[in-house]
Amino acid sequence: MACTPLMQQYYDIKAQNPGCILFFRMGDFFELFEDDAVIASKILGITLTSRNNGASGATPLCGFPHHAAERYIPKMVAAGYRVAICEQVEDPKLAKGIVKRDIVEIISAGTAMNEANLDAKEANYLCAYVPSAAEKNAEGKGAELAAFAIADVTTGYLATSKSSVQAFECEFCRRMPKEIVVPEGTKIPDGVMDLIKSENILITELPAFQFGEEAAKDTLFNHFKVEALDGLGLDGRTEETSVTGALLQYLMYQKKSELSHFTALEILNLDDYMTLDPSTLRNLELVRPLNADDISSTLCYVLDFTVTAMGGRTLKDWVSHPLISVDRIKAREEAVDELVNNPVALDELKESLTSILDMERLMGRVGSGRANARDLAGMGRSLAQASKVADVLEGLQSPIFEPMREALVRAQGRGEELLSQFNDDLPLTVREGGMIREGANAELDAMNADIKDRRQWIASLETREKERLGIPSLKVGYNKVFGYYIEVTRAAMAKATNPIPDEYIRKQTTVNAERYITPEMKECESVISNAEVNIHALEYKIFSELRDRVNSWRAELQEIANAIARVDTLYSFARAARKYNYVCPEVFEGSGIEIKGGFHPVIVAVNPDLDFISNDVKLSPEATRLMLITGPNMAGKSTYLRQTGLIVLMAQIGCFVPAESARIGVVDRIFTRVGASDRLSRGLSTFMVEMIETANILRNATAHSLVLLDEIGRGTSTFDGLSIAWAIVETLHDEPARAALTLFATHYHELTGLVEDLEHAGNYQVAVQEKGDKLLFLHKILEGACDSSYGIHVAEMAGLPNNVLRRARKILMRLEKHKIDPSDEAANKKLKEKPQVDLFAPPDESTMLLKEEIRRLHPEEMTPMQALQTLMDLKENYGK
Ligand code: ADP
Repeated sequence: MACTPLMQQYYDIKAQNPGCILFFRMGDFFELFEDDAVIASKILGITLTSRNNGASGATPLCGFPHHAAERYIPKMVAAGYRVAICEQVEDPKLAKGIVKRDIVEIISAGTAMNEANLDAKEANYLCAYVPSAAEKNAEGKGAELAAFAIADVTTGYLATSKSSVQAFECEFCRRMPKEIVVPEGTKIPDGVMDLIKSENILITELPAFQFGEEAAKDTLFNHFKVEALDGLGLDGRTEETSVTGALLQYLMYQKKSELSHFTALEILNLDDYMTLDPSTLRNLELVRPLNADDISSTLCYVLDFTVTAMGGRTLKDWVSHPLISVDRIKAREEAVDELVNNPVALDELKESLTSILDMERLMGRVGSGRANARDLAGMGRSLAQASKVADVLEGLQSPIFEPMREALVRAQGRGEELLSQFNDDLPLTVREGGMIREGANAELDAMNADIKDRRQWIASLETREKERLGIPSLKVGYNKVFGYYIEVTRAAMAKATNPIPDEYIRKQTTVNAERYITPEMKECESVISNAEVNIHALEYKIFSELRDRVNSWRAELQEIANAIARVDTLYSFARAARKYNYVCPEVFEGSGIEIKGGFHPVIVAVNPDLDFISNDVKLSPEATRLMLITGPNMAGKSTYLRQTGLIVLMAQIGCFVPAESARIGVVDRIFTRVGASDRLSRGLSTFMVEMIETANILRNATAHSLVLLDEIGRGTSTFDGLSIAWAIVETLHDEPARAALTLFATHYHELTGLVEDLEHAGNYQVAVQEKGDKLLFLHKILEGACDSSYGIHVAEMAGLPNNVLRRARKILMRLEKHKIDPSDEAANKKLKEKPQVDLFAPPDESTMLLKEEIRRLHPEEMTPMQALQTLMDLKENYGK
């Protein structure tokens, strides 16, 4: 069916960009049509109308002024859509027929670049993944492998790796990309799929040929201006080449730009870092809180004293990538130690870092052709400031600072060069002049000098005319329609002693004034505006050259930005260490953890008034390598487990640790099985999730791992749970290859007997004190087994009604006496039957219960009324 030529243009562009919501520029508006309009009107809350589209009838339509796009794009992207921006690419005045239009950018979650929509201290990663052929061992078995690449288009970060699928899952979770790109029809690993669902990550499928090796090589060679793969470290890495090339190609297609700020490719070696699987990352709340509203519960929140956005992002990166090389850890530790002991340097660092902008993202704007004069001048100021950071580093000894200082020293010249070119106050636009400083360019200065007199003439016109006409309220104004004008209010005119001069030509009448022009003024103005066309063109040319120049420094600027980010992160560690009284741990190659006076970094930081009880940990392969910790709920078992995990992790990122002293043998992996999990989304029961995670631990733990197990077996019946927990303890204890250092918290008291017989396991308890019917949690970890679970005490403290507590005590007494497993159906049935006394109770049960209740009474604390009520209760329950 025929439609208008404009709509035909729309359909053509729409067809070339399937899967996108098209923002179609028409004059000062963006218009959306058909399904796009229906979807966007709902998400953006704007009115849906319709437009007559020639013979094909009415089309749904919505639209908004073009400047609103900045607000609307992030909303669409957050709702999971990709937005194609279609602009008019020729001047409508010069257009023959329909104005030419084209897509200038496609924006999706992983390709958004506008800082206003991004968290400054969080990277905006995009990931590409291809499953890889398994590497078979001699028996023909092999782990599934994955090749992947990760990019941050806002900063130019690009990395690739090939690893086991499991390692890929871990890395995916640490980076938490906003979007994943895969060849069409790819099966994404389950663990990654879980994260994609829970975090609403966008999946982009591309035709498989875009992941072809030859296409990828072309992209990489062209982009990095290299002629062979070894120049990028990709020699012999076919799959990494394909996935990286495809990712870069996708980004360039989306951004319609060369993205010259991608200057380097990192070949990630995941073996350089401690493995942290998604459940450990989540359970230890390293970067993301378990409860989304509670951001103060993360380790990053507590350690983040970074001053710059770049430092903030690096801190997150370090926290989720603990090191395993003792040398690298010590290099950071030494620097933190030096800063901790040099508060003057700390203050100076803070001061010099404070005004440094996000140079990485500024480079992103330069590299994608979006930078304006403010960005370049901001870069200049930041560079000048970066050289002050170099001055502070000059006075420090730690070797890690030296390469940073060398990079930063070079910043000075660059910064000054930029600043000498730009004015102090800069416009947002780049084509209307006002950018280049006087004295920076002789030709520009001469052009400005030529019209200087005339500009002054216009500038002083108001004063002159006020005086000449005797009208103090006379004003000289400017508008786009007819340029300069002189405005006189009618009231002033009525009072004026002199008439309006003859040369004044009336140009416009407003509500209470007349606007005039004069021939001399117009002549002057036309000279100025003709000259300004050339001045603006020259300024734009100078600006473009400067932008290209900054772009040509990109590798060096990225080194400078990187140095700033690292200094800032070390600064942050030192600040945290001073604020919270952390100590420098002794990290060593080998196995063993000895912590004295350890405390939980987050609980203590967030509750400064809490009287937190510190605790020790002593685990070693020769003595106790498994601590079985018993104690009632709420005693502090999970806290103890988590704090131990966090202390070890902090030691391995080079940070000081919350303790009086700590010796930490580097661990290859921290496993955690604590608390409920949000993997329930995959439709698995709590118990199933618990068992999957435990199986993962038993398969992958090594003698160098740290395993934190909290309440294993809780999700099933008592005897099942106990048996499973029992077998796990034995395995972790007995199998040399799995003999990880383990903290095992449990409420199964039966396990304490097992542990007594195991050579390398020890019983520990969280101390509690019984005060009458009250329990006092001492939160202190002591040697020895705890002899009661106190569950009903805790329930009482939580305020469970008396009759429920009474009934619970009765059931407990029977269960214990008869050793009944409540999951045994027959016994369970009997428990529910009434009268229970006849079935189970020995003749003295009521007496025992009555005695227990009397023992728990505190008559001295009761009011007469309460005493009377209690007496009546007792009579009601036992008197019949
Ligand atoms: P459990 O795992 O034994 O049920 P939790 O570790 O969840 O107990 O701790 C219960 C409560 O006790 C938490 O509110 C926690 O803040 C507090 N707590 C735990 N350990 C300590 C401690 N060492 N000092 C002070 N309070 C603590």
